[in-house]
Amino acid sequence: MVLEVVKYGTPVLRKKGLRVDSITPEIKQLVADMFETMYESHGIGLAAQQVGVAMQLTVLDVRGMKDRPSTLEINGKETDPDTFMPLVLINPEIFQVGAPVAGPEGCLSFPEIYADIIRPESIDVKATDLEGKPIKFRCGGLLARAVQHETDHLNGILFIDRMDKKDKDELRFELEDLQAATKKQKKK
Ligand code: ZN
Repeated sequence: MVLEVVKYGTPVLRKKGLRVDSITPEIKQLVADMFETMYESHGIGLAAQQVGVAMQLTVLDVRGMKDRPSTLEINGKETDPDTFMPLVLINPEIFQVGAPVAGPEGCLSFPEIYADIIRPESIDVKATDLEGKPIKFRCGGLLARAVQHETDHLNGILFIDRMDKKDKDELRFELEDLQAATKKQKKK
């Protein structure tokens, strides 16, 4: 089922997600719905907060983005990122590896708003998969950026928080309009 993606101005986007302790049938259904919602919106990542649930759970799939490459290493061995997709991360933890670099980002909760965000180029990731098994990998490029963007969501952090002040000032009216529209829609 395609779920509603909540927009900037919805309080749940600022909530830190609760840890997922057991993979229940409800969690599996939520993950399936989140994938359906993400593909429908042509996104490459979606966090639980974006469908109104404050939990440490995110889904990703970078296969569609051929012009923005990703790298992946599992147990020190280079792996084709496509074979690792689609990806479910439960209770993810990230550790900086590479130096910070700027790259363009958007967010399904901020339609039509894009900016360059500075983040480490590569990271180590520890998480649990949908079978409840621990997973560990090192990633770079777009996948590293997407994992960091989504993990931020799980902690109530939004990409506008990491925007350059000048970029954010330039987007001020768009952000205010979006927030106002979200609040107005909620009242209905
Ligand atoms: Zn986002």
